[in-house]
Amino acid sequence: MDATDGVIKFASERHPGTAPWGPQLEALNHARTTLFDLGLIGAYPDGVGYGNLSLRVSGDQGNQDNQGNQFVITGSATGAQRTLQASQYCLVEAFSIEHNWVRTRGAIDASSESMTHGAVYAANPAIHCVIHVHSRVLFDALLRQNHPATPATIPYGTPAMAQAVYALVQQPVALPLLFVMAGHDEGIVACGMDVDSVQNVLLATTKRICTP
Ligand SMILES: [Zn+2]
Repeated sequence: MDATDGVIKFASERHPGTAPWGPQLEALNHARTTLFDLGLIGAYPDGVGYGNLSLRVSGDQGNQDNQGNQFVITGSATGAQRTLQASQYCLVEAFSIEHNWVRTRGAIDASSESMTHGAVYAANPAIHCVIHVHSRVLFDALLRQNHPATPATIPYGTPAMAQAVYALVQQPVALPLLFVMAGHDEGIVACGMDVDSVQNVLLATTKRICTP
């Protein structure tokens, strides 16, 4: 893992309030527990959490500026908990990849990997769900198999990573899409049109790689 994992590298501006909640976020939260039980979301022995999930709540009509791309994402430092409450999610109201800045609404800070999620939503209006997990086994196997990946020279949490993710997802891609963050040890991102398809590509890939 990176020594900097879980550290928020972007500038953020948080306003008190609550994130919108509904059946799709219930489904996302349920998927989170399933992935936690597989170890794809959790915490390292030193207590630093990993893994984050988000759901688009606006901006799916496609637009050039990022202002319309709002999403609800798990809060910072929630990785260690098996189940989350609605209050542990927050709304990313606006963000700027160029300025490495996010504005959020909620009771806790947004995930340290919010900018990566934002880059995915900004790049592809068809995408409604993004799940970022960590896995030693999947990371190593997928890189060996030349799976789609961001460059190994680009570390997590940087504007360069957001731009690399944007470029990768913006291409005409089949959804759900799963890619490796080669410069973010153990980092894998899955994204697609809904919670089910994104969860399923993670489960199917895990099964394919982990079944002898
Ligand atoms: Zn990560």
